[in-house]
Amino acid sequence: MAHLPRDKHGRPVPWFVAWIDGQPDFRVIGPGKIADAVRCGLCWLCGGTLGSWKAFVIGPMCAINRVSAEPPSHRDCAVYAAQACPFLTTPAMTRRDRHLPAETGDPAGTMIRRNPGVTLIWITRSYKPFRAQGGILFQVGQPVETLWYAEGRPATRAEVLASIESGLPILHAQAEAEGPDAVRELEQMTDQARALIPAGSP
Ligand SMILES: [Zn+2]
Repeated sequence: MAHLPRDKHGRPVPWFVAWIDGQPDFRVIGPGKIADAVRCGLCWLCGGTLGSWKAFVIGPMCAINRVSAEPPSHRDCAVYAAQACPFLTTPAMTRRDRHLPAETGDPAGTMIRRNPGVTLIWITRSYKPFRAQGGILFQVGQPVETLWYAEGRPATRAEVLASIESGLPILHAQAEAEGPDAVRELEQMTDQARALIPAGSP
């Protein structure tokens, strides 16, 4: 990411970020970026070509449903983002929705609008884009590695567990609205996600 343009604070501006009136708006995805990333196999963060490993920067709840709203990045770029991105590293910060450009839509799918406190880097060799209400989502493949971060450093097991438990009622309410099969599937997927959580505190 060293070649990326910098914002006025000297921070590298990720490739996907929209530039509005000459300034990067980190909350907004640039026009056509999702399609370009998928079609050309480009890193979401630096815009370089991806190899066979794809790293998704996701919230802990995405470990359960295995869906990302953003395309993958290089592993190194994803680790940098988990360590340096102000939104990902400072859980007390809430998403700033005020003064978003008028044409900004929500990401595809149902977004859980809370800062999860824990960031997960999901490294896989495969993924599949699919159409969802409002745009494109990404089904992430079997993980070859998962890295959990909180406040820019490796997350403890307790932090990961707390972050998953706090989000589960939202997913449960959605599943219950869909019926008993959805609830059973959610429970299975939650067990699979729990198996990925680091065993001990670093
Ligand atoms: Zn990259």
